[in-house]
Order: sequence, then C-alpha cells, then structure tokens
Amino acid sequence: MLIKFKNLILTALSITVLSLLSVTNTYAATPTFGHKYQNGVGNVTAWLNYNSGVGYWQSYITNGANNWMYPGWSNPIYITFVSSNYGSNMDFHRNNDAYFGGGMNIYAWTQFYSSNGTQISPTASNWYYTEIHINHDMYSSPNFTNTQAKGTTIHEMGHAFGLAHYNSNPNSIMCQTAYGRIAQTVQKVDNDAVNAIY
Ligand SMILES: [Zn+2]
Repeated sequence: MLIKFKNLILTALSITVLSLLSVTNTYAATPTFGHKYQNGVGNVTAWLNYNSGVGYWQSYITNGANNWMYPGWSNPIYITFVSSNYGSNMDFHRNNDAYFGGGMNIYAWTQFYSSNGTQISPTASNWYYTEIHINHDMYSSPNFTNTQAKGTTIHEMGHAFGLAHYNSNPNSIMCQTAYGRIAQTVQKVDNDAVNAIY
C-alpha cells in the first residue's frame, strides 16, 4: 500500500515536471535589437572604471561574464577583462541615482557606441562598444536583493550583446524586474537569441 502511494506521488511529480517543461518550451527565443557587436562576441574586452567605484560590484560583473560564457548551452561568447579602456568593448561604470534622472527606479542601463565614440541606437546600426552604467543607490537599496542585482547585471550584458526586452516571459533574463522577472541567470531562450545573432 505504501509503495503504491509512493508511485502515485512519483507519477504526479513526473506529470508536474513534464507540464512545466512544456510551458517553458512554448516560448520563442528572446527578441533582439536587429543589430550587433560589429566585431562579434568571440573576443569581447571588458573594462571596469575603478575611478567610478564600480569595483564595488566587480564580483557581480565577473559572475555575469562567466554566466554568459558558460550558461549551460553553447554560444560564441568569450569575454576578457582588460586594464585599459583603449579599444575595449564593454565598459562598466558606477553612478548614483541622480545620473539616471533621480527617483526613476532605473537599476542600470546600457549605451551603444560606434568606434569613433558616437552614441548610436542598437535598432539602427551595429556598435563597437557599450557602456553599462550601474545605479549604485538602487543596487544598494534594501528591497533589491543581491540575486536581483546579479540578475540585472547579466540582463544589461544581454543588451550589450543585442538582446531586447522580453517582458512577456518572466523566465528570460531579458524580462525587466518591474515585469516580475523570475530568472536571474541566462536561460535557453536568451542563449538561443545570441546564437541567432552571431
Ligand atoms: Zn533592460
């Protein structure tokens, strides 16, 4: 009797797992901006602006780089940290809330530039480098967890690679915090999008 009951539970669990899997599989790849890193993502050089104080969040940034390189599915991303921003492709800065307009509830943002330093729109043309700006006040706020801050850092790096928001899918790293993002690491839909671009 006990064994039968156990089997019943196991069957119920398997059905639950299967239905969860099928729900996840109904999502298409994460949307993209339509343009990309002009030199690809096989040798992305990343630089930390220590003068801005971004070293405070360094472990989140290196964690994010490792997550994008080894998310559990293959992709062409390789990131190297460099000590100079001369020719670097992904620059990290720390700013206070006023930089983001003040009281706008913006955790971070990513900006896109051509090789001559002109800011461009990622929906209009390819970019040579990106700047990821971290809102230190928001990252430090007591109602923003470390896991969410790590997830947001990974999310911004997704923008740098050319991924757009996926607010209809809380199980994508490209869903925004305000839209209830559950995933705090790179998911298969996000990795699929990178492979579709590069
Ligand atoms: Zn975003």
